[in-house]
Amino acid sequence: MQIPLSDDARRWQRIAREYADEYLLPHEVEAELNEGELPDEIDARNKKRAIELGFTAIDVPKSYGGLELPMECQVAIWEQLGRVTNALSWCFPEAQSWMFDACSDAQLEQYVLPMMRGEQKECYAITESGPGSDVAAIQATAVRDGDDYLLNGEKWFVTSANLATFMWFQAKLPEEGDQALFLVDVDAPGIKMIANPKFSHTYASHHPTYLFTDVRVPVAARVGRSGDGMAYTHSWFRHERLMIGARSCGACARLIEEATAFASERIIDGAPLAEKQAIQILLADSATELYAARLMTYDAARAADRGDDLKALHTRCSMVKLYVSEVANRIADRAVQIFGGRGYMRENVAERFFRELRVDRIWEGTSEIQRLIIARSLVKRGLDGM
Ligand SMILES: Cc1cc2nc3c(=O)[nH]c(=O)nc-3n(C[C@H](O)[C@H](O)[C@H](O)COP(=O)(O)OP(=O)(O)OC[C@H]3O[C@@H](n4cnc5c(N)ncnc54)[C@H](O)[C@@H]3O)c2cc1C
Repeated sequence: MQIPLSDDARRWQRIAREYADEYLLPHEVEAELNEGELPDEIDARNKKRAIELGFTAIDVPKSYGGLELPMECQVAIWEQLGRVTNALSWCFPEAQSWMFDACSDAQLEQYVLPMMRGEQKECYAITESGPGSDVAAIQATAVRDGDDYLLNGEKWFVTSANLATFMWFQAKLPEEGDQALFLVDVDAPGIKMIANPKFSHTYASHHPTYLFTDVRVPVAARVGRSGDGMAYTHSWFRHERLMIGARSCGACARLIEEATAFASERIIDGAPLAEKQAIQILLADSATELYAARLMTYDAARAADRGDDLKALHTRCSMVKLYVSEVANRIADRAVQIFGGRGYMRENVAERFFRELRVDRIWEGTSEIQRLIIARSLVKRGLDGM
């Protein structure tokens, strides 16, 4: 399925596809059957190659030695990496452009630029058990104490914290009636992992719960300026929501290809399964929805590249996240059905994606929250403002 892409985006698409096929895909089943883990030397090799290819620098400004790729190219890369299960593509850290607006020179030197070299790895401690989806209502606090802040609170689902070196910690500032992000090392005194639940997918990255008790960080660990509030968290959400769209498109393409190949080879009643109308409907609906999903995701990426109005872009990223994640879940479900009993085996890509894609309707804001964002935007700005 070809959709119009710039020459550069096609080049990055090819590079990412080759990397996914050669370095990641052959290790999926091994990871699945081994709690998501790969041998250290494979992990190290995959990370090294990703850094050599420039994947850690795709969203880094050129003035900091990055590639500063257009979003269209970044989507092309993440779409191909999204073809792989077991989050094997999470083997490298991701420095993002908003970090260069948000962080001081010292923060960039200590945390963000080393991510580009693979020397620091990030995780995000935002969600709490009480407010959940309502990030504005978080209870964690950062209270000034001389030249320091004391961080307190409980954070849930801190993805990759077991592999990370530092956290982006979101806290209320009671003295300012605002919120801010803080940079804090994962092993700082006062940070304690209090739970490490198992989740549906089989990933080396865990999602533990952390208790922060009087974690002392210097004032210089605060990200951004007074009044920035949740602006940078929103930048992160926009980026992630678009990239969930990209990864989900890649997953859908792989599912459709594998299910089509299986249906073409599997003989039932003396004819390929692909000739049965019931199966053709599943495949046709999947291909059609993927077409819409890809057009939408690349259109939002180009809107970001054009520098379209930020509020309109925010809404479009929500639309992409909502639509594409739901399409991907439908396609994974259909693929399992086409594979029959084989589709329920953990060694089958459809089974793994069926479990793995489910969380894309939950994290970075649930489908219901995306609908709230879209509906509010519609009421405030009308269709032309979206
Ligand atoms: C595997 C995994 C990894 C995660 N990784 C991270 C991470 O790295 N960092 C991080 O900070 N967070 C992370 N999260 C948290 C994730 O972002 C939240 O789970 C998500 O935002 C939903 O919050 P909640 O689980 O508290 O659900 P709740 O807010 O309790 O929602 C429960 C249900 O109510 C619905 N709902 C809530 N509010 C409304 C409303 N106003 N109107 C209508 N319906 C509503 C929701 O859509 C949902 O269906 C992760 C979660 C998971 C499962």
